[in-house]
Amino acid sequence: MTSPRHARILVTLGPASSSIEQIRALIEAGANVFRLNFSHGTHEDHAKRYRIIRQLEQEIHRPLGVLMDLQGPKLRVGRMIGGQARLQAGQPFRLDLNDAEGDAKRANLPHPEIFAALEIGTDLLLDDGKLRLRVDSFGPDFAETTVMVGGVLSDRKGVNVPGVILPISPLTPKDRADLDFGLALGADWVALSFVQRPEDIVEARALIGNRAWIMAKLEKPAAIEHLDAIIEQADGVMVARGDLGVELPAQRVPILQQRIVRRARAAGKPVVVATQMLESMINSPVPTRAEASDVATAIYSGADAVMLSAESASGQYPVEAVTMMEHIIAEVEHDPTWREGLDASRGSAQANTPDAICCALRRVAELLNPRATVAYTASGFSALRASRERPDAPILALTPKLSTARRLTLAWGIHPIHFDVQLTDVAEMISQATDAAVQAQRAESGDTVIVIAGLPFGHSGSTNLLHVASVP
Ligand code: PGA
Ligand code: MN
Repeated sequence: MTSPRHARILVTLGPASSSIEQIRALIEAGANVFRLNFSHGTHEDHAKRYRIIRQLEQEIHRPLGVLMDLQGPKLRVGRMIGGQARLQAGQPFRLDLNDAEGDAKRANLPHPEIFAALEIGTDLLLDDGKLRLRVDSFGPDFAETTVMVGGVLSDRKGVNVPGVILPISPLTPKDRADLDFGLALGADWVALSFVQRPEDIVEARALIGNRAWIMAKLEKPAAIEHLDAIIEQADGVMVARGDLGVELPAQRVPILQQRIVRRARAAGKPVVVATQMLESMINSPVPTRAEASDVATAIYSGADAVMLSAESASGQYPVEAVTMMEHIIAEVEHDPTWREGLDASRGSAQANTPDAICCALRRVAELLNPRATVAYTASGFSALRASRERPDAPILALTPKLSTARRLTLAWGIHPIHFDVQLTDVAEMISQATDAAVQAQRAESGDTVIVIAGLPFGHSGSTNLLHVASVP
């Protein structure tokens, strides 16, 4: 038995990863959670992938997480005559609500809420920041701008307005329809794109309830200003470096990545580092050295998960990309410097019983070096508090709820196990815990297993017991 990997791999599915054989190969290579990206594909495409994941889950006897990623209020220009036009730097360019096709002098921007939020001097970024317009004047239905950085503008390209909080809901009508569909399928996590304020998560929570956990994608400067409040409202966060790097200069991204990971870890909320991690592997079976280093940096910082986007969704080497992540994580997690860094960057625990028990779990595990720890958890909360301590030994999260088990697949060091035994006393609980460790091939007869639980059972946040068990 080798010590298992702690950091998790989140894999985006797409045209290059849709058959049962392809998805099975991704799991064998190390995928823990799958992302269904609702910016692309039809409901039917997502449903087909979802059903395959659940079928494979049965096959491997281990929960798999599914994260549905909503497109969010991605702003776009309208159509252009002939599909595109070239904008010249220094020339005027008009944006308006007129839905006629655009040309080198104007384009349709079908978002009145943008015009309402503009100021003179606001920069508008087009096509992932490749083109830049500066607002000279505006009204409720138009903006006159000067082209600062020119280039080709084609149909339906994205528009970013970095400096401005737009008075828009994080959920568009399309998102609401996608959400209904994805929740009915059984998604475990919902990722919200372009979150700006903590209220955005409250609004989504009102629709989602407890049907899924909510991940806030941090890709707007406004979200960074409310970082702690957003982390508090969300169940997890994503460092969405793609759009973050459009809205802010590239050199800000690594700094914010470190800050977000640090704050999320302190709060005990799962944090994913995403986008372009192994970008060159879209077309190449090996990554650049810089990309390998980028994945390693995320692991050194203690992120819960690293994500693949186009590499696995539409690239030529999805399995190789997952394997590469797996190898990088394994290397880093064997480096003593990694452990020192995790310990040094651990946020302080709260002064309450569950956190005290989780601190004890880590400390006892350090001293006794057990094969595994077992955390009983109903809502997943207790397991996340244990994960927050970043203990060396794997955390087997025993939960009577399948939904909890699936949600926990994204969290650092957690190996969720679904069980449906009614527990009545402590002796039974201990033997169930050691049995589970043996069944999960995480312990053998004579090994030590540390168990934490809450008595009475089944109340969230009630962890108040730590027991050192010997496997019979
Ligand atoms: P996306 O989000 O891939 O849905 O745009 C991630 C990012 O922006 O980094
Ligand atoms: Mn994005």
